[in-house]
Amino acid sequence: MIQAIVSLGGLGLVFGGILAFASKKFAVYVDPKVEAIREVLPGANCGACGFAGCANFSDAVAAGDAGVADCIPGGSDCAGQIADILGMPKPEEGVKLVAQVNCIGFGEAAADSFIYDGVLTCTAANAFFDGYKECKYGCLGLGTCAQVCPFDAITMKNGKPIVDPELCKACNKCVTECPRGVVSIVNYNPQAYAVLCNSKDKGKQTKIFCQVGCIGCGACAKVCEANAIAMEKGKLATIDPALCTVCGSCVEKCKRDCIVVP
Ligand code: SF4
Ligand code: SF4
Repeated sequence: MIQAIVSLGGLGLVFGGILAFASKKFAVYVDPKVEAIREVLPGANCGACGFAGCANFSDAVAAGDAGVADCIPGGSDCAGQIADILGMPKPEEGVKLVAQVNCIGFGEAAADSFIYDGVLTCTAANAFFDGYKECKYGCLGLGTCAQVCPFDAITMKNGKPIVDPELCKACNKCVTECPRGVVSIVNYNPQAYAVLCNSKDKGKQTKIFCQVGCIGCGACAKVCEANAIAMEKGKLATIDPALCTVCGSCVEKCKRDCIVVP
């Protein structure tokens, strides 16, 4: 009797060990962001997002193949929660999110440090001595963002990426794939001004590298009566599109010409 109990217990231990090993060895990795997105979706599996169900949609939105606001039954609450999970700005009620390229330093405006003759993608160019521009934060203009956009919302014109707000679904793919971190997702206001510079250099250096780079002097913030411009120490000026009244005072005051309508 004791012998039977011991041998059964031994078998249990062996099989338990095998099962524990197999569950570790063959475990399928699930991105925690995908799981978090699944939890905030309504779970209706209605297909209104264009995917077979909520599970497929959560995979797609985490991979940047769908927009955060594409779940129709979830509405703006759900879109806000997904944006939080993906580290994007929350869409304002009734406002569309779009991608914005935060650099206008093209051609003569932004100096090159050497002639690049390699593979014509931004990723390859950036891997070669941090890119051929003096400014290490500016757009390289080789169109990696346009190539990865699943919605053909970015076209390259004379080396500048142009975002079509009608086609952009704010899926974040261009943001994650741009090796320079030049693209961000913003609340779309077709009239509001924006400071289109991504430089993290000191103002003095930016002045040398680029004719249209923001030097963080704060002149724009001082003249803005709507208090729409924020100056964070050591950072660039940022304009809140929801507060901007498009009066144009900042544009007149800025000596660097880096405030434009995107
Ligand atoms: S300084 Fe600003 S505008 Fe000029 S290239 Fe760099 S990121 Fe672009
Ligand atoms: S925004 Fe980024 S990915 Fe797009 S062209 Fe410029 S450097 Fe390349």
